[in-house]
Amino acid sequence: MLNIANQLKLGTQSEWPSSPIIFVVSSTGNGDPPQNAESFWRVFKRLKGADSLSHVSYFLLGLGDSNYDTFLGFPYDLDTKLKSLGATLIGDFGKADEATGLEDTVEPWIADLYPTISEHIAKKKLDPDPPQKDTQSPLISTDDTPEIKHEISKDAVVVTENIGKNTTDAPKKKLKIVGSKGKKTLKAVVPKPTTKISEIVFVDDKEALIQQFNSALDISKENPFTSKVLSSRLLTSEDAKKQVLEVTLDISGSNLDLVPGDALGLFCPNDESTVSALIARLGVTEPKKLFILKPKVSGLDNVNPHIKTPCSVFDAFLNFVDITSSVSKRLLMTLKEYATDEKDKAQLERLATSKEDYFQLIETPRASLLDILNMFPSCKPDLAHLLDSLPPLMPRYFSITNSLKIRPEQARFSFVVVNFPLPEPYDYKYFRGVCTTYIHDTCKALGYLDNKLIQPMTLPIFLRNRGNFILSEDPTRPIIMVGPGTGVAPFIGFLEEREYLRDVEKKTLGPAILFSGHRHPEKDWLYKDELKRFEENKVLTKWVTAFSRFEDNVVYVTHKIKEMGSEIYDYMMNKNAIFYICGDAKTMAKDLRELMISIIHENANVCEKEAADILQSWVKEQRYLLDVWS
Ligand code: NAP
Repeated sequence: MLNIANQLKLGTQSEWPSSPIIFVVSSTGNGDPPQNAESFWRVFKRLKGADSLSHVSYFLLGLGDSNYDTFLGFPYDLDTKLKSLGATLIGDFGKADEATGLEDTVEPWIADLYPTISEHIAKKKLDPDPPQKDTQSPLISTDDTPEIKHEISKDAVVVTENIGKNTTDAPKKKLKIVGSKGKKTLKAVVPKPTTKISEIVFVDDKEALIQQFNSALDISKENPFTSKVLSSRLLTSEDAKKQVLEVTLDISGSNLDLVPGDALGLFCPNDESTVSALIARLGVTEPKKLFILKPKVSGLDNVNPHIKTPCSVFDAFLNFVDITSSVSKRLLMTLKEYATDEKDKAQLERLATSKEDYFQLIETPRASLLDILNMFPSCKPDLAHLLDSLPPLMPRYFSITNSLKIRPEQARFSFVVVNFPLPEPYDYKYFRGVCTTYIHDTCKALGYLDNKLIQPMTLPIFLRNRGNFILSEDPTRPIIMVGPGTGVAPFIGFLEEREYLRDVEKKTLGPAILFSGHRHPEKDWLYKDELKRFEENKVLTKWVTAFSRFEDNVVYVTHKIKEMGSEIYDYMMNKNAIFYICGDAKTMAKDLRELMISIIHENANVCEKEAADILQSWVKEQRYLLDVWS
């Protein structure tokens, strides 16, 4: 997103096209726009005038995850704002849900898009736009307008955002009108194979392999900073259900302005042995030979920008594409095109089209590209087409656990090493997280875990866009922090910062209450010593622990919060406290939301609906803040 923003620059309704606009948007965990839509939204939400966009019509596809309370928050806000300005939604607002499978909505929505556009345009020709009123009236109250390139086809404006792996399915190219077929409702469709857009051209220039980040550019996802790993330690016992590793990075020279609550984005390579197996299966004879990608379709100049060429085929699979996620339905249909055995073809199509089979044989066992290729030996995909079809390897995000005021030029983060058994029928017994396994195994191999460093290690990092999950500028405001498991990580940084504010800057601190959740006191009591010290020196006013697998009791942070319901209510209602929640979105954050509504309901003596409205008002006031994941 957002090509259309360029059009806002002149700030008049006449600048908006009357051709339909296609919005494909996701939202962040808090329901806010994603990073690359922020500048657009900052301008767009200030637009005024009930009829100012009455000549505008739009399509809308939202992508989200219903595990989050704020499911499709930004797409809904965008829809509401567009309607409030008089714009008309064409077709159905597509509400794709990662929890149930984005493709279930995305595929039929795309299939419906082209005939609906044709129908719309045909209708418009019969009934052209009414003359526009007041075409010079300013729509925006600021000239703080971002410079963003736009792309307008003859008949429609395509407005998309970069939404990671999901964007590969989004309609990004100029639209081709395929003829009017009348109004359709969303229905299941057979996924289309991906289009081949590039050719591999092998090159000889070895010098070209040296990929150097441009130090003149600001650090960003596209231009990460190479940080040095200073140390690494296990925070859990060897027999803990989930092992948690803490890593400390040297970020000197990066000028990264990190505050507690910020998260670092990290790039890690795929597992080398998996890449080697994949390359062998694909029959690549010269995996280390350098290549560049040449566009196959004229007019496309930068195909697959995430594959930083010149690079070798090995490097492309190692560093730039996602080879471990479950294969998408579209990729299955693409692989079908390259299978020579009719039985393989039929089975690949069945996996792509049967919801039950896809769920059981692909999603649940997390069947990767290699699993599928091994299962269907007659499938020999074209290398360039495969690289076109695989999603980019995405960065992983981790909250920092320190204050740079206390530890300048260092960034610490901690994470669960993802490693769990998978159901049959595939070869791999375990699913291993790409990034967490890489960091753990490399730290172990290089001697970090035994304090016997054999060789230094580096990690490319960048700063995730700062949200509102940070400390208030007013340190006297009470804070309530809820952090089960690794969710406690950002609060260690909060407490370090508070200690500095009090002891060095001589500021007065308001009360701070922390609820931390662990499984067992001897196995995974994360940051026990640090937290004890903060409690003793009163940086932490109250620390409440919940152990879920200790002495046959299941005690969660929610149980403890319930016990202190009226005290928490008083802090939130009468003392302007800020409530921070970090950790699992799927159950913990949802259960906590329900609990908070019941606490408000009981203490304010209001009905559940009014209690939910009060909670919502805290969200709006930015004092019920979430940093959650699923
Ligand atoms: P966790 O699985 O959420 O468990 C932490 C504690 O919360 C355990 O004692 C757990 O108890 C308890 N718990 C379970 N359900 C609860 C509920 N409904 N309400 C309150 N407490 C509940 O946290 P974790 O062990 O730190 O694991 C984190 C997971 O998040 C990892 O699998 C990781 O892949 C993922 N993740 C982490 C990050 C990050 O930045 N740290 C980012 C992305 C993803 P029981 O297990 O005994 O029921």
